[in-house]
Amino acid sequence: MEIYLDHAATTYTDKKVLKVMMPYFSETFGNASSLHGFGREAQKGVAKARSQVADAIGAKPAEIYFTSGGTESDNWAIKGAALLAGKGHIITTSVEHHAVLETCESLEKAGFEVTYLTVDKDGRVSPEAVRAALRSDTVLISVMTANNEVGTIMPIKQIGAVAKENGIPFHTDAVQAAGHIPLDVNDMNVDLLSISAHKFYGPKGVGALYIRTGTKIEKFMHGGAQEREQRAGTLDTPGIVGLGAAIELAVQDMDKEYEREAKLAKRLSEGLLELPKVFLNGHKTDRLPGNVNISFEGIEAEALMLHLDLEGISVSTGSACSSGSTNPSYVLRKMGLTNEQARAAVRFTIGRRNTASQIDEVIEKTKDIVVRLRSISPLFADKGER
Ligand code: PLP
Repeated sequence: MEIYLDHAATTYTDKKVLKVMMPYFSETFGNASSLHGFGREAQKGVAKARSQVADAIGAKPAEIYFTSGGTESDNWAIKGAALLAGKGHIITTSVEHHAVLETCESLEKAGFEVTYLTVDKDGRVSPEAVRAALRSDTVLISVMTANNEVGTIMPIKQIGAVAKENGIPFHTDAVQAAGHIPLDVNDMNVDLLSISAHKFYGPKGVGALYIRTGTKIEKFMHGGAQEREQRAGTLDTPGIVGLGAAIELAVQDMDKEYEREAKLAKRLSEGLLELPKVFLNGHKTDRLPGNVNISFEGIEAEALMLHLDLEGISVSTGSACSSGSTNPSYVLRKMGLTNEQARAAVRFTIGRRNTASQIDEVIEKTKDIVVRLRSISPLFADKGER
């Protein structure tokens, strides 16, 4: 049986979500900008989705802008703030997703200065470090809500308070957090927040950017007058209604699913930690419920992943975007792991369909493979620790 444990890379689209989306491909196919009946029907679906997204994060519908996903939302928030300022300084962290890091790097080439804050061994950045990095020309702070590799949750509320005190717009990439842990833009003190539907059982290629009323950023997509003239492009109505339905369902079931996944994650990490020379990466408690990132010393994670794949078990090494490259995870390196320890890390991310018996099977198979790989590992043999 296939066991999927890579929900941080993407989730399947929930059947209930798919059902809501289907009519928008064929019957309610109008362009949401058209003024006739077909257009108005499509627009109704979009308006409902806008409210669903707003309700899920404690925002107002007018503060939600639909995009093509997390990458676009991150690009828009950061480049939008930078373009408006023209020049200046940005604060972010060294463990952000590439969608944030590469955007910041592109702005450095355009003359902006960027501070990439370091993190502690658990992958957290401190609000004090953010405060210390502030400059008179700081135009934006961007810190992710939860990390995609290790699941560590950042102290967003406190960092937001620092931003607010200093009148600096604060963006958070909540792509991994949305639909999994409670989010409230006011409680979190954020001005800009990115989400992506395919991380919470919605469709791929659709997301949203929350922009607090009064927060100004430049537009990013130029063209038509969609999204109150802030984001041009014909709206992906099936995707947008899917996003709305998916976030509503995720919030409805959040408490129950959080508890279930956290229990399975505990079972998985306790089972795997019975092996010698194995440790859990990320914060012990302030982490996403379904994330278990473990380093198996003396093992190449890619090899473990491929062996698990042969057994029908899907996991990942580092972030999906960097797989294929042989570089160890930059997130784990920034957390202080050695190259060897970072290369030995496997990410298991649990989701809605996983069961306790699947987890037990994964523990058993992983242990077997690790013992086998270690028995032929020069890394391990050299230390005489087989
Ligand atoms: N930000 C984080 C933290 C992510 O994990 C991802 C996707 O893996 C993204 C941004 C990019 O989102 P999307 O795949 O919707 O472009």
